[in-house]
Amino acid sequence: MEKADVIIIGAGISGLTIARQLCRAGQSVLVVEGRLRIGGRIHTFSKSGLTLEGGAEFVHGDLPATLEMLREYDIPCEPIGGEMCRVEHGQVQEQDDFVEHRDKLMEHLSELKEDMAVTTFLDRYFPDEPYAVFKDHIRKYVEGYDAADAARASAYAFRDELNEPEGDQYRPEGGYGALLDAILFELRGSQAEILLSTTVKEIHWSAGKVKVTDADGKNYHARQVVVTVPLGVLMDKEGPASLTFHPEPEAHLAAVQSMGFGHVIKVLVLLKPDFWKDTAVRKRLGQSLNELGFIFSDAPIPTWWTQYPATDPLLTGWLGGPPAAQLRYADDDTLRHLAISSLGYILEMTHAEVEAVIEHIEVFNWCADPYTLGAYAYKTLKTEQALQVLHVPLEDTLYFAGEALYAGPEMGTVEAAIRHAKDVAERMHHSGR
Ligand SMILES: Cc1cc2nc3c(=O)[nH]c(=O)nc-3n(C[C@H](O)[C@H](O)[C@H](O)COP(=O)(O)OP(=O)(O)OC[C@H]3O[C@@H](n4cnc5c(N)ncnc54)[C@H](O)[C@@H]3O)c2cc1C
Repeated sequence: MEKADVIIIGAGISGLTIARQLCRAGQSVLVVEGRLRIGGRIHTFSKSGLTLEGGAEFVHGDLPATLEMLREYDIPCEPIGGEMCRVEHGQVQEQDDFVEHRDKLMEHLSELKEDMAVTTFLDRYFPDEPYAVFKDHIRKYVEGYDAADAARASAYAFRDELNEPEGDQYRPEGGYGALLDAILFELRGSQAEILLSTTVKEIHWSAGKVKVTDADGKNYHARQVVVTVPLGVLMDKEGPASLTFHPEPEAHLAAVQSMGFGHVIKVLVLLKPDFWKDTAVRKRLGQSLNELGFIFSDAPIPTWWTQYPATDPLLTGWLGGPPAAQLRYADDDTLRHLAISSLGYILEMTHAEVEAVIEHIEVFNWCADPYTLGAYAYKTLKTEQALQVLHVPLEDTLYFAGEALYAGPEMGTVEAAIRHAKDVAERMHHSGR
């Protein structure tokens, strides 16, 4: 198909959701995807009989759009949990000063009359020496959870995040890939075509008329186009997946530059089953790996989690924010080495001892991935303004979508991608083109 009602650029969960909604409304769609696979930042695969996630993994709470879509396709979710453990200065820590100072933190955040960067907020309200460690923990939280730069991240957004009710978190059974498979199955019976390994380079558009050109110079035509590529790709001018628009939507592209797009490196470490039951680990961490959910540390790769409540011998490492950005050009060997030394530090083992208990290790450096160039969006002081621009389609012909365009508190999640995609599809369906 070289002609369709709508061309959708990107077969992540946003692009696939828009395709599904438009096909249900009777339109023909062409989804053009640069990678060899669908899913984008959802990347589920199998190894040694286990389901592994290189990208999105959790449903962060009782999120209506995600849970509804999973229910629609009969994909169950399993709550996660487990014990938490903090390792700092080579010791397992009993006390968590984030919790200790939480009341004061919330008090100052709720009194804020103007937005400011998280680091500005901390320096203003927690200036004294006794808070140095606490401030460092907050910065690490923002870097870790939001993959964000605390010097740019909005204090209002941080406050909203902390005020969110702490609901359960889940993993979809079979991983997020099960959701992709279900959508794909539905699209196979409709007026949709998905072109893989087709990187879009140029978009020519005028009211009701679109020509999209791929990296091989092949053209595709439609009445409308939706761009769902990640913010990192939209911000980039020179990479293999970067886009050129004719005419250039200047205000939209300027808005993109003022938003925040974080950085992340995720490492999956599959361990030998015998090691998983090792009593020495239990002695060191105070919990067996079967009981543990999360480990927070001051290791180079600081955050690790298990598959709790499942007892699969998998540890997942997570490095987010500016420290991940600094390592974006590191090769996978260097990152594997860093992951092994981080685990060695946390578990009090030598490098060689950790290597000996590893069955498989895989690095996902999303910052270096040309089709992502980062992690996911976070709110800066200018995000709200930027979204007002980006939410307005040009001539009812050029639309932007994706997780970053969702204005609610779940920006940066699968939920955000689905919700914004549904809004865009609804709007296109009623647009009259
Ligand atoms: C490591 C990691 C862990 C995460 N964990 C979670 C989690 O636990 N829970 C959660 O809810 N969210 C999580 N997220 C965020 C979540 O994955 C994203 O918010 C969501 O998947 C974004 O979907 P999207 O369709 O908007 O973008 P994407 O999935 O990035 O889709 C965009 C698509 O565009 C394609 N593309 C890019 N450039 C071009 C081009 N020039 N031509 C053609 N195609 C192009 C890309 O290949 C991609 O397939 C995580 C993200 C990462 C990176």
